[in-house]
Amino acid sequence: MRYPDTRLFIAGQWQDAADGKTLAVHNPAMGQEIGRVAHAGIADLDRALAAAQKGFEAWRDIPAIERAKAMRRAAVLVRERAAAIAAILTQEQGKPLAEARAEVLAAADIIEWFADEGMRVYGRIVPSRNLAVRQLVVKDPVGVVAAFTPWNFPINQVVRKLGAALAAGCSVLVKAPEETPASPAELIRAFADAGLPAGTVGLVYGNPAEISNYLIPHPVVRKVTFTGSTPVGKQLAALAGQHMKRVTMELGGHAPVIVCEDADIELAVKASGGAKFRNAGQVCIAPTRFLVHESVRADFVAALTRHAQGLKVGDGLAEGTQMGPLANPRRVAAMAELLGDAVQRGATVRAGGERIGEVGNFFAPTVLDNVPTSARIFNEEPFGPVASVRGFTQLEDAIAESNRLPFGLAGYAFTRSLKNAHLLSQRVEVGMLWINQPATPTAELPFGGIKDSGYGSEGGPEALEACLNTRVISITNV
Ligand code: NAD
Repeated sequence: MRYPDTRLFIAGQWQDAADGKTLAVHNPAMGQEIGRVAHAGIADLDRALAAAQKGFEAWRDIPAIERAKAMRRAAVLVRERAAAIAAILTQEQGKPLAEARAEVLAAADIIEWFADEGMRVYGRIVPSRNLAVRQLVVKDPVGVVAAFTPWNFPINQVVRKLGAALAAGCSVLVKAPEETPASPAELIRAFADAGLPAGTVGLVYGNPAEISNYLIPHPVVRKVTFTGSTPVGKQLAALAGQHMKRVTMELGGHAPVIVCEDADIELAVKASGGAKFRNAGQVCIAPTRFLVHESVRADFVAALTRHAQGLKVGDGLAEGTQMGPLANPRRVAAMAELLGDAVQRGATVRAGGERIGEVGNFFAPTVLDNVPTSARIFNEEPFGPVASVRGFTQLEDAIAESNRLPFGLAGYAFTRSLKNAHLLSQRVEVGMLWINQPATPTAELPFGGIKDSGYGSEGGPEALEACLNTRVISITNV
């Protein structure tokens, strides 16, 4: 199957880095190099920044209704090209083709939602204390947005940032992941082919730290948005703070799943098991700490174990694969370390527990029971296909355990009691809580965390607000 090399997209042109430098891209199922991606240097970044400024000046002056039409054209192209883009995504990232296709189609939906929302960016008129004065509150795009995105959802993480910023009238310079570069490039290509002015979207790859250290302080950049780990997010937010740049941070999580004694166990296993092993667990909102009432723990663990053992693991391109490889060898090493630590501290392996084969980054869907809270896997974001379970007897204790970590991104709970649901919704410290259901991170809902999981939102009107300046104009009749 064809896998394209990836170039930079600067000033409306696909181009190599000025010095010709490239990086290798690997297929995580086979381990071999499948292509190259251009590696931008400072000269490339300077051209990309100048183009982004020009692109901003052109895009902001296009009426919102016309911007929406252009964005909708991009969405149509993404949908038409979904099969080809999904095949590229699976080759570089590993997830099953069906998941890749769903990610691409969801991107089209996200673009359309933001396109429409961009037409509803209204200001207001505030009655004045002096009848000769008219007071306007206006919303303007903040300017050039620098977006840094990771490899777990190469398209989704870009499109959420792009959708909100473009809808607000901003231009966007994307630093997409070097490990999975070609599928986000196809997303950018759809916008380019939809006829956005040159420079409105730009795309670079290279050394992440070098690029962020150059772009964030640069005067052309007015807003920074990042998805990735909490330690990196803190560094970037601190740098942005030094330069007074607007920031949205979508960082790591460690989602609790509270299964109460009155839960529908079948539903709990189906919803949380499905979410646990999707994208091989490399999802910031993946369920990670399963807190199960002691009266139902044995049943829950048995059903989750059956679910994990029943999953077909393989190359994401192969028919019937339900879980692909981990995206890079670092994750395989991390899984082995976290499991070794948990077992040594007394956890029991009920399913999986080891790497599969020697070729590619495959790790078995794993269920750990009796995991002590001191285990590293109960404290560090696992970002892999391991479900860690421990029991509780009092709901207050499960809530306290949920809130023990500094993370606060997603949470899940299963209960038939309205009283429990009410208490959980008041007390569990997360940005998104899903009760009796899987996650539904649709474009119209805010998406983001609290505490060390970051701030700002990548969905709903809040996502646009983060790309807008609010200004006051007061006019006195003379
Ligand atoms: P990492 O922390 O080195 O990188 C995470 C992402 O941040 C990557 O896309 C990387 O390119 C980028 N990055 C790293 N340093 C950067 C910098 N100075 N400037 C700009 N971008 C930078 O680790 P990793 O091995 O790629 O992933 C490990 C951990 O990262 C995971 O365990 C998980 O906790 C977290 N992660 C979170 C998400 C998410 O969706 N929130 C996505 C990917 C990784």
